[in-house]
Amino acid sequence: MFSYRHAFHAGNHADVLKHLTLVAMLKYLTDKDSALTVIDTHAGAGLYRLDGDMARTSAEATQGVQKLFLGSDLVPKGQITGKESAQGAMQSIAPALQDYLDALASFNNTATASRVYPGSPLLIHSLLRPEADKLKLFELHPTDYRSLSGHIKQLDAGRMVTADCANGFEKLKTLLPPPNKRALVLMDPSYEMKSDYGQVSACIQEAILKFPTGCYAIWYPIIPRPEAHSLPKKLKTMAVAAKRPWLQATLNIGQEPPKHAIGEKPSKLVGLRASGMFIINPPHTLKAALNEALPQLVTLLGRGRGKGFTVAS
Ligand code: SAM
Repeated sequence: MFSYRHAFHAGNHADVLKHLTLVAMLKYLTDKDSALTVIDTHAGAGLYRLDGDMARTSAEATQGVQKLFLGSDLVPKGQITGKESAQGAMQSIAPALQDYLDALASFNNTATASRVYPGSPLLIHSLLRPEADKLKLFELHPTDYRSLSGHIKQLDAGRMVTADCANGFEKLKTLLPPPNKRALVLMDPSYEMKSDYGQVSACIQEAILKFPTGCYAIWYPIIPRPEAHSLPKKLKTMAVAAKRPWLQATLNIGQEPPKHAIGEKPSKLVGLRASGMFIINPPHTLKAALNEALPQLVTLLGRGRGKGFTVAS
């Protein structure tokens, strides 16, 4: 069985990029009248405690969402515009960043803003319309599946939300095309196994053939590994061959500056510095939204050499 547990990584900079993009897409897609099906092929546990043992051990959220809260202050919508951030670099919060913060705020009260972090299943559920939309979740790790089931049960969402302990790569094709012909697919594997890269491209290739107009959002790590490097290139080739629009957004928080203080322990925060989202059939509003929000993420989360963002389509 896999050793990857998302609780160690919840709320890190990669989650910030992925979930901010997800919220922006859902805001657009649920603004239309017709029903939407969202398929989350790699759901995780659904909800995380940032003050729990696993999150505290890795401390990744301190370089992600917790740093964001400190920089932008979690306050209700409308109160933040025109306000200077703690770093003094921003005059107002980009709408997509504000929407993401608002979505997180609904899981926290302001006093404990960064204690609870919603994973993709609960974040998606919070933005769907109970009377119209459907959410299909897949999670293979038995422990995380148990947590996910418990969180879903508490939502009391009835048939709107289903969760299966099953292989999301295999299940996706059985759900396409969805009955209402509108779907957003989030594919967010851990890439713990090298084979995940090939599975993502094969699965997306098959999905586009079955349902070319679906919106497909794939998260990937930016690491020095040939498979990771070629995955977005393969996705782009597929989108172009299928004559579908695409968008690629990356966020790099850069290298952590060396610590000089005497007696200070070296940081454990090595590891992933950058990640990307590749989207096929993105909402037409997404590029502008990310071009406004990502520079602010770099200001708030950037650490040093290499920090930056890209948005291409
Ligand atoms: N999407 C979640 C979020 O944003 O909150 C995080 C998901 S985490 C990066 C990846 C998850 O996929 C892990 O919980 C892992 O157990 C699960 N997993 C790995 N292989 C899988 C597969 N083939 N099908 C479904 N889940 C899988």
